[in-house]
Parts: sequence; structure tokens; C-alpha cells
Amino acid sequence: MRYVILGSGPAGVVAAETLRKADPSAEITLVCGEAGPPYSRMAIPYLLRGDIEEAGTHLRKDADHYARLQIQLLQARATAVDTNARTVDVGGQSLAYDRLLIATGSRPSRERIPGIDLPGVQACWTLDDARAILAQARPGTRIVQMGAGFVGCIIMEGLLSRGVDLTILVRSGYMVRRMMNPTASGMLRRWCEAKGVKILTHTQPTGITAEGGVLQVALADGRVLPADIYLSAVGVDPNLDFLDGSGIALAQGIVVDSNLQSSVPGVYAAGDVAEATDCLTGKRQLNAIQPNAVEQGRIAALNMAGRPARFKGSFVFNVLTTLGLVSSSFGEWQGVPGGESAEALDEVRYRYLNLQFDGERLAGANTVGFTDHVGALRGLIEGQVRLGVWKQRLMADPTQIMHAYLAAAHSVA
Ligand SMILES: Cc1cc2nc3c(=O)[nH]c(=O)nc-3n(C[C@H](O)[C@H](O)[C@H](O)COP(=O)(O)OP(=O)(O)OC[C@H]3O[C@@H](n4cnc5c(N)ncnc54)[C@H](O)[C@@H]3O)c2cc1C
Repeated sequence: MRYVILGSGPAGVVAAETLRKADPSAEITLVCGEAGPPYSRMAIPYLLRGDIEEAGTHLRKDADHYARLQIQLLQARATAVDTNARTVDVGGQSLAYDRLLIATGSRPSRERIPGIDLPGVQACWTLDDARAILAQARPGTRIVQMGAGFVGCIIMEGLLSRGVDLTILVRSGYMVRRMMNPTASGMLRRWCEAKGVKILTHTQPTGITAEGGVLQVALADGRVLPADIYLSAVGVDPNLDFLDGSGIALAQGIVVDSNLQSSVPGVYAAGDVAEATDCLTGKRQLNAIQPNAVEQGRIAALNMAGRPARFKGSFVFNVLTTLGLVSSSFGEWQGVPGGESAEALDEVRYRYLNLQFDGERLAGANTVGFTDHVGALRGLIEGQVRLGVWKQRLMADPTQIMHAYLAAAHSVA
């Protein structure tokens, strides 16, 4: 059996390892779209902060790991897939497969403004991006960052640890608005401002020019901000372009069934690029987080090897550390129609807990400054546990979440 895996992020690497275990004699080719050993993007913030060296970002630390498992690494990018002939165009050659996994992840969304191609305009998504930032970021380096989403927030600590002068532009007015309600978002903003980050809300650039080696970022309100680096962090899009004409059904990402198989038999997808069903809402969606990529890589590989395995559905949860402040969002944190909510807020201590109920179940939550309840929240929400008497107790005091978990989850309520 010939397995080809496109993409050597967490989804691709775990899939290759799972295939090797399930099918010891198979031919496994892992196509790596970037130079160097497979690495984890999640480790980039630690690299920026100087906590680890580049080798610390590698997904597997042993240099012989892939050779030992007889997983062939091919440094190239796929440019087309022919699902009739069962071949992939990769770096000028045609690679035949019996089963194909697409695990090509996502890439930074591109802002459509003049000057976005100038030197000094930068994303923070790949190891190359991190190297470019590290080469330039010194005490006093002026960084104007567009966007304060998950990645925009998670990299701030690394940037500030270099002593840079950081200004963040937030178009919507709310930081991490895709995972936080306005109260939580406002707390994050105050926290960041107290740490010296300048945050300009309801602001977006209209264009960037370069004058004498310095970027000039023109804002919609007429102001112009000088910058040594313009960091564009406005979201991500799945890497799908090379699938044009392949016949594989695409929506926002690659549409997959509960076995993570695409619309074309023998072609599977996993990770940021796959659009699977959400375990709470039943709707299909992208879920661009590493734990999801790892689990999907494993399940897709088992199915590819003929060992039926079901993906139980994506679960939306994000845990974010922004300059030391931990926040999280789970499930339907915006609430559900006809649902109820309860919250506990301590602005001074930066502690906030917002619970959203759907009948007697917990449907979602936002937290700021609560680190010890993450497992309990996840368990109750993902498990769709009936809360019984604990519903009213949590409505009265949301901080009782751990007691509710222990009682309700073990059916002693
Ligand atoms: C700075 C940063 C911090 C993050 N922090 C967290 C965090 O704390 N927690 C969390 O859960 N998630 C985090 N993420 C998100 C997480 O990294 C992704 O969800 C995860 O990497 C997805 O894994 P993947 O294998 O699907 O895709 P990726 O890791 O993106 O890997 C995709 C691979 O496919 C390759 N590729 C792309 N196109 C092609 C092609 N045409 N041919 C061949 N190969 C191709 C790419 O080069 C890459 O090797 C972070 C991301 C960034 C950038």
C-alpha cells in the first residue's frame, strides 16, 4: 500500500506514525511543504521569547525518527491532485498513491492594502517568519501589528520580551472577538495596556509606504504610524488552492465525513484544512487548533489503513495566554437561542467566568484568570452532562464549577 501525506505539521506527522504502526510494510511518503524537520507552530511564541532554541520547535527531537520508522520525507509542495489517476504533482514529479491524506494546514490571510508586499511587512506563522522577526526585533524596534486574534495575542509576550515598542490595531474594537465576549475582551485590553502595549481600536490601515527604511502605516482616521515591522495577523485561510479541479468537495475547508474521508474515496483530510462536524452543534466547521489536528491525523490514518475509526466531532475550545493572563473559550460561548447565562466578575483581580446554559446543560463558557477549572468546564460542556440541581447552583455562583463537575459528571447530584 502506498500512502502519501501532504503536510508535515502535527496532523501529518501523527498520521504517518499511526500508519506505520497499523501497516508495518506500507510505503509512507510525508510531503513537507517547508524546509527543515517537521515542527510545531505552537512552539513559535516560546522561540520568540527565547525559552527554546529552534530545535525545541521540532515535533520529534530524535534526528533519525522518520528514517527509523521508514517514513520518507520529501521537501516539496503539492501543486495538483489527480483523483482519477491517483497521483499528486509534487515538486515537478508525479507521485502515485493508493490512499492520500491532505494535511496542508492554513496560512495567514492576506490584507488587501497597498504596500502589503513591502520588505518589513511580516506575518508570524512559519519558522521563517519567526526568524525574520527575531533578526529585527530589538529594544525600541517599532512594531505595528494589525489584528488581535488568537495568534496576535499569543505572540505579544515574545515580542515584548525583546523590548519592542508595540502598537496593535484592532478593526472591530474587540480583541479576540472570535473567542471572547466584550467583557472578557475588555479585560484583556486593559491588561495589555497596563503592560505597555498601545491598542488602537476601531482602526485599520489604508496603506503602507516605505520612506528612508522606515514603514509608514496610514490609518483610516488620517494618522500615520512609523514602523520598523508591520505585523499582519488578521486570521488564517486553509491551504486548498492546489485542489482546484481535483473533484474533492470544498466548502471553507475540505468537507469530510465522520471517518475524515473527503467526497472522493481514498482521499482523507485532517487538521486546520479539514471541515468536520462540530460535536455540539452538528454543523460543519474548521477548528484550527493543534489538539484537533493531532486527533484528526490519528483517526484519518486508522481509516486509511482499513481500521474503521470515528471522529466524534470537533470541540471548540481555546486556551490563550496573553502576556501571562490566561483566558479561555469553550463550545457555544456566545450562548444559544433561549438559553440562560450566569457570570462572576472581579475586574480588579482580572477574574471572570461566564457560563452559558442550554436547558440543564452547559453549552459554553468564557473565562479570564481561571486556570484550575479548564478540565471541568471542558468535561461538562463536551460531555453534554445534565446538571440536575447544579444548574441552579451554578446560576447562583458560577465559581462552583468544579463541585458541579465532580457531582454532576459522576451522577451524584
Ligand atoms: C504562533 C502560533 C501559535 C499557535 N499557538 C497555538 C496554541 O497555543 N494552541 C493551539 O492549539 N494551536 C496553536 N496554533 C495553531 C496550530 O499551530 C495549528 O492549529 C496546527 O499547526 C495545525 O496543524 P496542521 O497539521 O493541521 O497544520 P500545520 O501545522 O499548518 O502544517 C501544515 C503543513 O503543510 C505544509 N503545506 C502547506 N501547503 C502545502 C502543499 N501545497 N504541499 C505540501 N505541504 C504543504 C506546511 O508547510 C506545513 O508543514 C498556533 C499557531 C501559530 C502560528
